[in-house]
Amino acid sequence: MNKANHPQIRLKPREGRRVRGGAPWVFSNEIEMSRAAKALEPGAAVNLAMEDGRILGAGYFNPKSLIAVRLLAGEADVVFDKEFFARRIGRALALREAFYARPFYRLVHAEGDGLAGLTIDRFGDTLVVQITTAGMDALTEPLLAALDEVLAPANVILRNDTPVRALEGLGSEVRAARGEIPSRLTVEENGVRYFADLGGGQKTGWYYDQRDNRAFMASLAKGKSVLDAYCYTGGFGVLAAHAGAREVAGIDSSQAALALADEAASANGARCKFVKADAFEELERLAKANEKFDIVICDPPPFAKARKDVEAASRAYRKLARMGASVTAPNGFLLLASCSYNMPLDRFAEENAIGIARTGRAASLVRQAGASPDHPVHPRLPETAYLKSMIYALD
Ligand code: SAH
Repeated sequence: MNKANHPQIRLKPREGRRVRGGAPWVFSNEIEMSRAAKALEPGAAVNLAMEDGRILGAGYFNPKSLIAVRLLAGEADVVFDKEFFARRIGRALALREAFYARPFYRLVHAEGDGLAGLTIDRFGDTLVVQITTAGMDALTEPLLAALDEVLAPANVILRNDTPVRALEGLGSEVRAARGEIPSRLTVEENGVRYFADLGGGQKTGWYYDQRDNRAFMASLAKGKSVLDAYCYTGGFGVLAAHAGAREVAGIDSSQAALALADEAASANGARCKFVKADAFEELERLAKANEKFDIVICDPPPFAKARKDVEAASRAYRKLARMGASVTAPNGFLLLASCSYNMPLDRFAEENAIGIARTGRAASLVRQAGASPDHPVHPRLPETAYLKSMIYALD
């Protein structure tokens, strides 16, 4: 391992409870913001030390960010060069290859793979890379070199257009760092083909996180009617149709996503009906018309984008549970999901229970799942377990 001589950031006495317990995050109020620290470039490589000088590890620093230090290694002076990335990415790849036979998965899930600030989704020989921190952004070149070495991808797309980059003082861009932006990406998952489109102004990717939950719902679907609310590009609905559902209806507000969902249905010989609508309005309409579905899937966008949104989000999740239950047929199944990491699991479960109970239905929770294993959770960072999918059997 190559070594350098990084500047040091010190914890304040008795501060840094989480990082001392093994979490890779240090908040800006937990460190001595010395003049030397303030003068460091956003994203500079640093060592993190306790007040007595003992080293906790090496990582990167951003004086402008609420999370001031993110650790990448447990020892001092580690250089984050091509070799470093090749080792980490090689380990991440080996893990995915243990789970999946085909090269379609989340290859790197940030802290869960020891690479804070980086996510990579793999679509065969195309990699879609998203960098969210100044520290990782500064390491783009060694990262790309390591990807060439480990995977030799045809295309590497930098999808650096997420709004969280602004919190780190980073701009927004989408570009091909290797090859080109393919006009159409094919996704293989659970034996079905889907499509994603990153060019053409559509900017529509793919969510691998629901893979196992899609398979579970599809396993219940034979001969049944299915409603896929917030269907996006057809993840749940197309697989359910492929598994023999009698009827699949999908709702989403994005025309671009629905066009890709239609294409996925055709490519798999699956019959689905996708409609553009606001999900709450359409659920309301279906409930008034007394329409029922054997299987109802509600996988909305994050309602709680920030911690301050939790109360409003809780009301929205409760309402969605009520609406979803009201269109679920007797003895049907209802999936309620939240991808907000700010929404605690117990609160989400409580809102779901209340929402369902308001319809007068009895429910039992038959499965509670997070994301698929290509989204590994850092054991000291519950924030990385953002997805909650709860499946209820209704009476
Ligand atoms: N279930 C999908 C992922 C859903 S992502 C899958 O398996 O891949 C959330 C989706 O909600 C997005 O496609 C977004 O376009 C859609 N959406 C956001 N607000 C909406 C609204 N008010 N009504 C319907 N769809 C909405």
